[in-house]
Amino acid sequence: MATYGWIGLGNMGAPMTANLVAAGHTVRGYDLSPEAAAAGEAAGVTIVDGVAEAVRGADVVITMLPKGEHVRAVFDGDDGIWAHADTATLLIDSSTVDVETSQFCHDESARRGFRFVDAPVSGGISGAAAATLAFMVGGESEAVDVAFGFIEPMAGKTIAAGGPTTGTSAKICNNMMLFIDLMAAAEGSQLADRLGLDPKVFWEIASVSSGRSWAQQTWYPMPGIIDSSAANRDYDATFRADLALKDISLALDAGELTGVTLEAAQLAQSRFRRLVDEGLADKDCSLIAKYVSPDGTAPGYEGTGTVTPMRDAD
Ligand code: NAD
Repeated sequence: MATYGWIGLGNMGAPMTANLVAAGHTVRGYDLSPEAAAAGEAAGVTIVDGVAEAVRGADVVITMLPKGEHVRAVFDGDDGIWAHADTATLLIDSSTVDVETSQFCHDESARRGFRFVDAPVSGGISGAAAATLAFMVGGESEAVDVAFGFIEPMAGKTIAAGGPTTGTSAKICNNMMLFIDLMAAAEGSQLADRLGLDPKVFWEIASVSSGRSWAQQTWYPMPGIIDSSAANRDYDATFRADLALKDISLALDAGELTGVTLEAAQLAQSRFRRLVDEGLADKDCSLIAKYVSPDGTAPGYEGTGTVTPMRDAD
C-alpha cells in the first residue's frame, strides 16, 4: 500500500482520493478551502495543514488544481512541493494547464532531481467517482511506467501520450472537442424541446444515432433525463463555467501558436465568457444551453434569464 500526498480536493480531487482510500492506500490531503477539505475528509483522506505536511514521506504527490497559476504556486516557493518533498517521491500533475506550465514543472523538477509527469484526466466527476477516468500521461518513459501503478485505482484507461507535456497537449485538444460537442448538445436539446419532442424520447433517439457524444450522454442539458446532468440540480457545477472558459482558451492559445484556425472553439469560448460575465462562473458549463432561448432561460435553471451581448473571442 502506498502513501499519497494530494493537493486540491475539489470536485475532482475528492472523489478521486475516495477511490485511493477504498483501494487501501493512505492519502494525506490539503486544500485551501475548508469545504473542499471537509469533502476530502468525508472521502477518508487525512487532512493536513499545508503542502509540506502533505508531501513529506509520500511515495507519490498528485496535484488536482484549477489552473496553471495554482500549480506553479503549489510546486514552487518556500512552502511548495519542491522545497519539501523527497526526490524519491514521484510528482504527478493531473490538473488541466497550459503547455508552458507543464513544461515549467518538467524542467524545474528535472533540475531539482525529481521525476515529474503530466497526467491530466478526462471523464468528469462521474468518471472520478466511478474510477473510470481516462489518464493521458506525458513524461520520460521510466517515470510514466511508475506513474501508471499509482494512477491505476482511479482509472478506467491510462494511455502514455509520449514525452514531457504530451498529456497536457492531448487534454487541451480533447477538451476543445468536448466543448464543441457540448454546444451541439445544448442547441439540439433546446431545439428538440421547442419542436415539441418528448425530451427523453429525443435523447434516446440521439443516443443510438449520429448525434451521440460524451457531452450528450453525460451532460445533456435537460432535466429529468440523465442523472449526471447539472440540469437536474439548477446547474450547480460538475464542471465550472470558468474552468471551461480556461480550457477552451488553452486550445485557442495553442491554435494561435501553431497557426491553426479554430472557429468552432472561438464560438464556444464566447459562450463560456458570457456565463462568466453574467456572474455565473461557478455554475455548470452546460448552462450555455440558456443562450439558445430568446429570453435566456433554460429548463432546469431557476435563475432569471439575463441576456448579455455576445463578445468577440479573446
Ligand atoms: P475545483 O475548483 O472544484 O477544485 C480545485 C481545488 O483546488 C479547490 O478546492 C481549491 O480550493 C483548491 N486549491 C486552489 N489553490 C490551492 C492551493 N494553493 N493549495 C491547495 N488547494 C488549492 O476544480 P475541479 O473541477 O476539481 O478541477 C480540478 C482540475 O481538473 C482543473 O484543472 C480542471 O480543469 C480539471 N478537470 C476537471 C474536470 C471536471 O469535470 N470538473 C474534469 C477533468 C479535468
